[in-house]
Amino acid sequence: MISNNTALANSDYQMNEKIKEEIEISTAKPAPVNKKLSESRLRLATIQSLATLVEAEVTLKEAIKGAARTFTIADQIACTNCVNLKPVNRLQCQNCKGLGYQKAERQVEITLQPGLLEGQEIRYSSMGAADIRSGKNGDLIVKIKITEHPYLKIEGKNITCTLPTSLYEAVLGAEIEIPTATGKVVMKIQPLTQPGRVYRLKGLGLAGGDQLVTIDVLMPQVLTKEQVELFQKIKEKAGDSDPRGALILSH
Ligand SMILES: [Zn+2]
Repeated sequence: MISNNTALANSDYQMNEKIKEEIEISTAKPAPVNKKLSESRLRLATIQSLATLVEAEVTLKEAIKGAARTFTIADQIACTNCVNLKPVNRLQCQNCKGLGYQKAERQVEITLQPGLLEGQEIRYSSMGAADIRSGKNGDLIVKIKITEHPYLKIEGKNITCTLPTSLYEAVLGAEIEIPTATGKVVMKIQPLTQPGRVYRLKGLGLAGGDQLVTIDVLMPQVLTKEQVELFQKIKEKAGDSDPRGALILSH
């Protein structure tokens, strides 16, 4: 599935890029701080191409198997109307309003590798918008958003879900088909499974995580007279096991 996403300039992000650049420069050259040096740092930082941030929404299945997306990137190119004019005359240009550049759209196809996580940011070097000042393309940063699933939830690398079972399945054990991110599996419920027990399905989560299945045991809604008598018999044969044995109930 291919979708088009328009790259939007994100001022916060651009700010971070600038700050990061300044930090990188200052760690690379540990020199005594003086006014002249900090000015040159600032100049270096501002001519750096800014990263382009886009969002890719993927399904759980795509997060596990990988996906392809096409983004529309707006490059800065020299304004065709005033490129040959003297800088002072460019200010009057109606085409670029004196900026000296115009936008040109370009399609970029990106392959998202298998094993994506919610909120993950993937950096593609020099695939972002072209910057007229630096003459280079900035990086493209793709932020992953995983579409909400009606049944499966995401907790870090794990996928979680609640599986309702009948009283009889929980008591006797059962084999139950359950949804996973990429399809379905048959899962074995042990006899005498307690409500709230969590089964771990290894490797069925995101990027090497697991699927955690919490068992919810549902009581019967109605019982026939015969069924009540059967339960009565089971109770009589159950002996004297007291579920409240550890509690002190006298007062
Ligand atoms: Zn112009």
